[in-house]
Amino acid sequence: MPRERIYLFDTTLRDGAQTNGVDFTLADKLAIAHMLEELGIDYVEGGYPGANPTDTELFAVDRGLKTTFTAFGMTRRPGRSASNDPGLALLLEARADAICFVAKSWDYQVRVALETTNEENIASIRDSVRAARAKGREVMLDCEHFFDGYKANPAYALSCAKAAYDEGARWVVLCDTNGGTLPDEIERIVGAVVKEIPGDHVGIHAHNDTEQAVANSFAAIRAGARQIQGTLNGLGERCGNANLVSIIPTLKLKPEFADRFEIGTSDAALGKITQLSHALDERLNRAANRHAPYVGESAFATKAGIHASAIAKEPATYEHVAPESVGNKRKVLVSEQAGKSNVVTELERIGIKAEKDDPRIGRLLEIVKEREAIGFAYEAADASFELLARRTFGTVPAYFDVTQFDVNVEQRINAKGERVTVTMAVVKVTVGDERLISAAEGNGPVNALDVALRKDLGKYQKYMAGLTLTDYRVRILNGGTEAVTRVLIESQDESGDRWTTVGVSANIIDASFQALMDSIVFKLVKSGAPA
Ligand SMILES: [Zn+2]
Repeated sequence: MPRERIYLFDTTLRDGAQTNGVDFTLADKLAIAHMLEELGIDYVEGGYPGANPTDTELFAVDRGLKTTFTAFGMTRRPGRSASNDPGLALLLEARADAICFVAKSWDYQVRVALETTNEENIASIRDSVRAARAKGREVMLDCEHFFDGYKANPAYALSCAKAAYDEGARWVVLCDTNGGTLPDEIERIVGAVVKEIPGDHVGIHAHNDTEQAVANSFAAIRAGARQIQGTLNGLGERCGNANLVSIIPTLKLKPEFADRFEIGTSDAALGKITQLSHALDERLNRAANRHAPYVGESAFATKAGIHASAIAKEPATYEHVAPESVGNKRKVLVSEQAGKSNVVTELERIGIKAEKDDPRIGRLLEIVKEREAIGFAYEAADASFELLARRTFGTVPAYFDVTQFDVNVEQRINAKGERVTVTMAVVKVTVGDERLISAAEGNGPVNALDVALRKDLGKYQKYMAGLTLTDYRVRILNGGTEAVTRVLIESQDESGDRWTTVGVSANIIDASFQALMDSIVFKLVKSGAPA
């Protein structure tokens, strides 16, 4: 049986740009468009030429993309001709492969927001689609508020969609603009639409206001639609758009869809989707959602002892898909509650072979328990746990020794009469027979210490080049008689790998220093640096 094609349309750069706190530069947009192309997205909507300088420039430059790059814009304004509308002219002139028009399909919106007649709105849709077709563009129409419009006046909503299709639009996209429609309604209404317009010309654009944008997209597919619009990581205004990072693995891995449909995403591209999702967060300087389906750090993490021993025997017992298929990793959390089987599984993952009755496993568990009792959190700090395990098994070389460090924070008035805070750190390190001393300024004590520590590690310096700190989290814990500080540091290296380390102390600088040291030593172990 040949499988039917589902087309994926990404609107991260247009609808996703409406996300609170997201502001794409031209470089961001170009980089993300290339990521989308690698993912196998059929249509990449770049933005709204003429609406702002970034989008105008994006549609003027050579982007070097093969995917169908799509410009978004409004149909001609009511009461004007298509040839006498400057907004439409900009859209038609934009360097784009396709044009996605947006138009009202709810009579209430036509009357109140557009202040025009139902007939004029339909004429505007027809004229605009015709003009874009005449320019040789692939055309689609986003029917705004389609589902609310259909519930209020089905005949009118349908006639807006039909007008575009009859005029030669490749796709008519049904939008749940307010995001409040539920899956059964979506399925019923899309089912009615595909009786008038063939399903392989119908798309779905769902918003996540009841957290069902993904479910709504699949409901539309079940009813016959063949294009899904969404965004990476579900970016979008309010609660976001349908999340393509969840939709794509489901289409590829769940037999209900995989047996019937094919999409442009290859198995190899699917295997990089976790990395892609994190790379987008990185670019936007947002923390990745640990609990995101398929790609979150916790998506394949197991804590309780009995689950962990079952997972070690047969992963399918607690995993709905193989983590590697989406480029994620199985993770067995090591914590106070851990049993020996968790530890054995985790040791295996990091390449240490040990029998369950090896006395070092018991010792490692004891150390984990003792340290977690004073505030360490090994569940969150995978790299610190790995070092602890390797040290217990005697496989971490003593690369270098920090013999002394000194951090100085000074606030004073500078020559311009401004109050400034200056931070300086000095670190003394012994590497083999070499004694090294480094000093660095930083925007705070931890930053200064980090820069000084990594400035000169002698023969190990070459392993440090790609190491960056990507996140720093501090928590004050109130255990026992005095408060202690827990610092978690997330690091990344040139290969895109990330790891987290932990430090605990009554003193925040000391806690940070421990976490920094673990991160550096972990990087040396990971890079296979010689002792
Ligand atoms: Zn939208």
